[in-house]
Amino acid sequence: MTAVLLPFVVVAIAVPLLWGDLVGWSDVAVFALMYILSGFGVTVGFHRMLTHRAFQVHKATRYLFAIIGSLSVQGPVIDWVADHRKHHAHTDQEGDPHSPHVGHGAGVKGALKGLWHAHVGWLWRTHGEARASKYAKDLVEDRGMRLINRRFPLIVLVSLGLPALLGGLLTMSAKGALTGLIWGGFARIFLQHHVTWSVNSVCHFFGKRRFDVEDHSTNVFWLALPSFGESWHHNHHAFPRSAAHGLRWYELDPSAMLIALMRRTGLAWDVVRITPERQQAKLAQDAEHPRVAEPV
Ligand SMILES: [Zn+2]
Ligand SMILES: [Zn+2]
Repeated sequence: MTAVLLPFVVVAIAVPLLWGDLVGWSDVAVFALMYILSGFGVTVGFHRMLTHRAFQVHKATRYLFAIIGSLSVQGPVIDWVADHRKHHAHTDQEGDPHSPHVGHGAGVKGALKGLWHAHVGWLWRTHGEARASKYAKDLVEDRGMRLINRRFPLIVLVSLGLPALLGGLLTMSAKGALTGLIWGGFARIFLQHHVTWSVNSVCHFFGKRRFDVEDHSTNVFWLALPSFGESWHHNHHAFPRSAAHGLRWYELDPSAMLIALMRRTGLAWDVVRITPERQQAKLAQDAEHPRVAEPV
């Protein structure tokens, strides 16, 4: 709970106090670096690599991504993977840890309650409930991964200490360290939390659908850049193992670009790719056997 509330409180206090005064170029640089590092840690590492095995890597790469993903302060890696695999196993049905559609009643009130639950409410209610021994057995059996999981509190301290250190070094001042901590630490964690949670809430509620999948997942274009491509979430539910979530040329997917770069440099292999033919086949199959579309 502290992890959710503290960044919010610090940002709420810091923005009015520091706006226009203490936001220097070093803060922008540290913010961007930390956002990119922890962001790809979650999207490429936690999600596409560890949860869905969309590509293969060396052990050292796996551990590195597990560590930088933990910098995003979204819970220990094994819990994250277990919760997310459970979400895919029961999407928008009983057992889904963060569906906006299950058990929140009808009407506008039910919709708002559902969105709140999918966005942050679930963190207090169902977060970490997915049994790791059932949903993340492969990670539990990996000693290195268990160690990274246990060291989560230490990585959280690094997630705050590193931007402070960088801010201090870049400006050679204590003030730079403090603003580095606020913007590169708390503000970055705050923003990244809400972008990630928007994939759970917004991308199961508003937006466009293409395939006839049995859930409410959607593609949301305006979240594509801040979420590093994760908001093509409907495509992802249609083809969960695909390394790319943006399936068309205009569907911007920075995470897929990084995975492609890793493949070209030999850091990743066996990258799961869904060919245009396979996408067409799924669309044609869906058109042949349409399900009654559920209201989104
Ligand atoms: Zn989903
Ligand atoms: Zn997923």
